[in-house]
Amino acid sequence: MILPIVKFGHPVLRQKGATIDHLTPEIRQLVTDMFDTMYAAHGIGLAAQQVGKALRLTVVDVRGIEDRPSTLSFGGEPADVDGAMPMVLINPEVTPLGGPVPGPEGCLSFPEIFAEVVRAESIEVKASGLDGRTTVFRCSGLLAKAIQHEVDHLNGILFIDRMTSEAKQPLEEELAALMAETKAALRAEARKASGQGRPAA
Ligand code: ZN
Repeated sequence: MILPIVKFGHPVLRQKGATIDHLTPEIRQLVTDMFDTMYAAHGIGLAAQQVGKALRLTVVDVRGIEDRPSTLSFGGEPADVDGAMPMVLINPEVTPLGGPVPGPEGCLSFPEIFAEVVRAESIEVKASGLDGRTTVFRCSGLLAKAIQHEVDHLNGILFIDRMTSEAKQPLEEELAALMAETKAALRAEARKASGQGRPAA
């Protein structure tokens, strides 16, 4: 099922995700729904916060992006990136390895907004999968960027927080407008839920 994607200005995007201790049927369903939602939006990653759930859970799939390659290895052994997709990362931890490099980024919670963001070129990731097993792998390139972006979401950190002030400054007006739009939509939803605004009988 495709879920609504939460936009900038929604408080859940600033919430830290809760650790997932049990792979309940609800969590498995959420993963399926997050993939449906990410693919429908043509994204390469989606965090639970972006569908309104403050959990340490993200999904990633970098297949089909040819111009920004990735590498992947398990225990020093190179692995096929496409073969490891799609990825479900539960309670992920990221350790930066390679030096910081700039790269273009967007975010499904910030429609039409793109900017350069500086992140580690390569990282080590420790995470659990849907089989409940914890794996450790290293990756670089687009996959490393995408995972850093998503794990930031799980900590309530957004890509605008990682932009240099020169990159962010030209976007300020657009960001303010997006936040105002999100907050207005939340207020309208709250009014509807409380029954206000209905015509008097
Ligand atoms: Zn994002």
